Amino acid sequence: MKDGLAVVCGAGGFVGGFLVKDLLRRGYRVRAVDLKPSERWYQRFDEAEDLPCVDLKKLEACHAALKDARWVYNLAADMGGMGFIENNKTLCMLNVLINTHLLQAARASNVQRFFFSSSACVYNHDKQTDPETPGLKEEDAYPGMPEDGYGWEKLFSERMCRHFSEDFGLTTRVARYHNVYGPMGTYDGGREKVPAAICRKVAQAKLNRTREIEIWGSGEQTRSFTYIDDCIRGTDDIMHSQTITFPINLGSAQKVSINRLVDIVEGIAGTRLKRTYNLNAARGVNGRSSDNTLIRRMLGWEPSIPLEEGLERTYAWIYDQLKSGRSKDSVVNLG
Ligand code: NAD
Repeated sequence: MKDGLAVVCGAGGFVGGFLVKDLLRRGYRVRAVDLKPSERWYQRFDEAEDLPCVDLKKLEACHAALKDARWVYNLAADMGGMGFIENNKTLCMLNVLINTHLLQAARASNVQRFFFSSSACVYNHDKQTDPETPGLKEEDAYPGMPEDGYGWEKLFSERMCRHFSEDFGLTTRVARYHNVYGPMGTYDGGREKVPAAICRKVAQAKLNRTREIEIWGSGEQTRSFTYIDDCIRGTDDIMHSQTITFPINLGSAQKVSINRLVDIVEGIAGTRLKRTYNLNAARGVNGRSSDNTLIRRMLGWEPSIPLEEGLERTYAWIYDQLKSGRSKDSVVNLG
């Protein structure tokens, strides 16, 4: 058993479920905390101590959740894909209560390390206006003009981590995730992100024999997508690094247009669909991907699982969920 208790906040969500699994595999004692009732968690494990129905916006709940904790991972957030964050800016901003109260509780209980999952949404909007825009470097977050709502909260909370370190000596680590995808995450209901949404639409078209797909925006927007296994490895490496004391990109540098993403999923599904473009839908910035110069220099590693490979696993899982008629609320996999 590794020394000390690891607490995963947001353990019932997509990334949190995989992180709990990985920490258990590596011999940590794990406490898994989430607002959702346990039957709605994406993954659960008998070896972990589950704390469902805990609202980490409340300071007292944070003190209780972090009791005796040594390692704290804050993945808890009220969030979703572009359709959700563009229409729920207040809810996204209120996530500030989660990170602030967790930092206060971490400081009070002498936590050794605190991890915050930030986002590529912190980057300055003006640096993402062109689909051909080069990968975003860490310094491109300033001057601050992030995604309204969600991005501002992430940028503010990054700085809150920094100041807890500088003023109170709490060791914090911050990764800027770029579009993480994989099985056992949200794929419908309005909070899903683009890779899961495209996999679901293609799978539905196949199952319903409709042969059509609606794409949000022109399809020419570019993004990079990070497979969950790379995200978990990077999260662990950044958490345990002695030298990464600043926010760092954790994302793939493989940039593709949304049209290309659809091509890949169609190829996996063995179908071709007629595309319609909804130019009024939320579509985010025109071009965004990760410049990995810094993470390569700091860790000698960068996310490298090819999109084609990750999408194959993601599509297969979403197709099975749809085919078996399971709703998003019952997607719980007991470990
Ligand atoms: P997710 O929505 O699947 O998981 C977040 C979890 O937090 C959910 O299970 C939710 O119930 C829980 N939560 C929300 N409010 C809570 C509260 N008040 N108290 C306790 N738990 C609460 O999201 P995810 O994809 O696993 O993302 C994890 C983290 O990574 C989030 O902070 C997110 O902002 C960040 N991030 C994710 C991506 C991505 O592409 N998935 C990209 C950038 C940043």
